[in-house]
Amino acid sequence: MEERFTGNFTQQEPISEAGIAAVCDILRSGRLHRYNLAGGERGAVAALEEEYAAWQGARHCLAVTSGGQGMQIALRAAGVQPGDPVLTNAFTLAPVPGAIAAIGARPVLVEVDDTLCIDLEDLRRKWEICKASCLLLSHMRGHLCDMNKLVDLASTLGLTVIEDCAHTMGAEWNGVKSGNFGHAACFSTQTYKHMNSGEGGLVTSDDAGFMARAIILSGSYMNHATHGTRPDDPDFADARLDMPNCSARMDMMRAALLRTQLPDLPRNIDRWARRFEAAAAPLAANPAVSLPAMRPEMRRVGSSIQFRVPSLDPGGCDALVQGCAARGVVLKWFGRDVPEGFTSAHPSWRYVDRQDLPQTDRILATLFDMRLPLTFPVEDCDLIGRIIAQEVAKLAPAQGAYL
Ligand SMILES: *Cc1c(COP(=O)(O)O)cnc(C)c1O
Repeated sequence: MEERFTGNFTQQEPISEAGIAAVCDILRSGRLHRYNLAGGERGAVAALEEEYAAWQGARHCLAVTSGGQGMQIALRAAGVQPGDPVLTNAFTLAPVPGAIAAIGARPVLVEVDDTLCIDLEDLRRKWEICKASCLLLSHMRGHLCDMNKLVDLASTLGLTVIEDCAHTMGAEWNGVKSGNFGHAACFSTQTYKHMNSGEGGLVTSDDAGFMARAIILSGSYMNHATHGTRPDDPDFADARLDMPNCSARMDMMRAALLRTQLPDLPRNIDRWARRFEAAAAPLAANPAVSLPAMRPEMRRVGSSIQFRVPSLDPGGCDALVQGCAARGVVLKWFGRDVPEGFTSAHPSWRYVDRQDLPQTDRILATLFDMRLPLTFPVEDCDLIGRIIAQEVAKLAPAQGAYL
């Protein structure tokens, strides 16, 4: 009998009793809006901003409704205007080009390489053509490019870098936290990321002018004085009148809940690492499977795993998804021609001008993706890796004929 996996890929860990109590306290107080403060009170949202800024090592932090809203706010606060080109990775999640489109700017997609990271040569090429002033750098699925080279190139090209750290909250490059390389960083606390408040987002930056604009954009109703890590009053002088209110504030319940989760983040990163290693080992042992190379400077958060089976044709890829599903393992395939649950590729972003991305298309054609929720014991991750490796072996002899 073949082994089967019976866990649930969408099952998150329950909210801790401390988290439940913190949210109940807010509910009992009736003060759910971040600016509904009793005299002299600081409030959970401002407290979260202070605590997250300290954890991240950033001067300022702003809590918002989602990672996507955080990116829209960051782009506007960085001075991107309607019609401006904004460079971004061609392999990313839909809210990234979505944020650029939402502010009326124009996504210019940059090829990714075999490590699933932005291709720095193509970044230079695309910049030569569009002369964008901003790069929304998406660390998609936790893969960090050579951040030293990226920072050098961005400074040569005069690019303002905004990091999309939805999958790299707590990840590091050479001991420096992801999010501390660009001008600003955006994080998500949506259920499938590294902290879980259902929906939510955080924006960090050391730039006081940027943060003053971001705070006003988030919808501060002139209550910016109550913010946790706010810039000084003079920084708000123009921002408070120039910036539109985009009403994207975080509420007290989510902030109170996240405050109980932040101290657990380092331990959870270790737990993810063990799960990632267990799932990756059987895959690495199958020569038909190609795991993206891990740069030694990178400390990733293993909340998901990606791999390619380059010898499979589209029919083979579909058969692999089905074969794994029959044994309880849910794989996402980025090469599918129709977008499905949380997985879409650039050809289905019809609000973006069509762009020719042959290298990215070749990589996505045989790219698979899987979540590793913390509810899976480490042994289960090993079992999942074995099941996938066995199903690959049925379909793709190591010396496949397709490529
Ligand atoms: C989840 C995600 C976001 C933003 O997520 P929200 O759902 O808007 O909080 C941004 N970038 C990537 C790569 C993501 O996966």
